Amino acid sequence: MTDLKTTTDVLAELVACPTVSSDSNLHMLGLIANRLHAVGARVELYHDAGGTKANLVGTLGPDRPGGIMLSGHSDVVPVEDQPWSSDPFTLREEGGRFYGRGTCDMKGFIACSIAMAEHYATLDLKRPVHFAFTHDEEIGCLGAQALAPILAARSDTPALAVIGEPTSMRIIEGHKGCCEYQVTFTGREGHGSEPDKGVNAVEFATRYITRLLDLRAELQTRAPATSRFDPPWTTVNIGRLTGGHVPNVIPGHAEVDWEMRPVRDEDRVFVKEAIESYTQDVLLPAMRRVWPAAGIETTVLGEVAGLEPMEENAARDLVAELTGANGTDLVSFGTEAGLFQQIGMSAVVCGPGSIEQAHKPDEYVTGDQLEMCLAMLRRLGTRLAR
Ligand SMILES: [Zn+2]
Repeated sequence: MTDLKTTTDVLAELVACPTVSSDSNLHMLGLIANRLHAVGARVELYHDAGGTKANLVGTLGPDRPGGIMLSGHSDVVPVEDQPWSSDPFTLREEGGRFYGRGTCDMKGFIACSIAMAEHYATLDLKRPVHFAFTHDEEIGCLGAQALAPILAARSDTPALAVIGEPTSMRIIEGHKGCCEYQVTFTGREGHGSEPDKGVNAVEFATRYITRLLDLRAELQTRAPATSRFDPPWTTVNIGRLTGGHVPNVIPGHAEVDWEMRPVRDEDRVFVKEAIESYTQDVLLPAMRRVWPAAGIETTVLGEVAGLEPMEENAARDLVAELTGANGTDLVSFGTEAGLFQQIGMSAVVCGPGSIEQAHKPDEYVTGDQLEMCLAMLRRLGTRLAR
């Protein structure tokens, strides 16, 4: 029987690996791989281009598609400038709470699933169970973006994904996406008295923003009738605008940072196509009529897919059965779930710990929450062995 002690032993090992997104996660994945190998799992590591980060996929049970994937990110946010009461990378227990960086977001869930692997290995699993642990979730879901196509190409592509982000074990079946862009406008400097000779980068940035605001208004009319999000439509925010120096000089440079939070992928495509055609067909020709070297360059800072609430969602139904929950929620924070949904998996977010504690000093997860997660995972084993 897998008990809380085994789980917190694993958690202590994981917390001791300072897997801040800027650093390597290979040591932690090595510890996990050893534990999974020890119970007979098949383990694959998929390295990133730099070779210092990896995604890990471990599998128990039959070698075929249709299994369930327990997924979590291995990285944590930094601890600098946070007033911790004790070493953030040493697990500390006090009053039923386990303190340490990542305990709630989301090494607690990873520890529960690794501890449970030992139990799964004793069962006659009819469907495979996969353990998928990614890198760089906190800086734009980079690991999951690399892992999704790998999973899709594997011969044993899982059908269901449970992403154990801290939801206090509530079932989350949807969240908006988050897409961030930086747009640089290069015009031509000139004297304010001769506007025809320069290309005013700030003015073109303003026209770009105005188009975005028109699209934002249009998005409100596109809200799906059944949307449970608050607000129910895709939002757009202009986060930063810079450019220019003094009143009598035509500015040659401007920058706009903006984000959108799509309620469905269609909206993301709609906004991107609309702003791109306005840029290519209207703004750039106007700029280049005066100065052929003028330009508008867009950098994608991050595009994290949303988790679209679906009428049919086998992962949600399974977790509801395992936890006995009688309702589901939507949340405002993003996860890797949408990326897995995009390759055809059904996905749900449910894990121990509260998002309130995530990223904070003295981050913790309670023993009660870990017990609830273990109970869910134990029932999952019974279900998969049936
Ligand atoms: Zn997280």
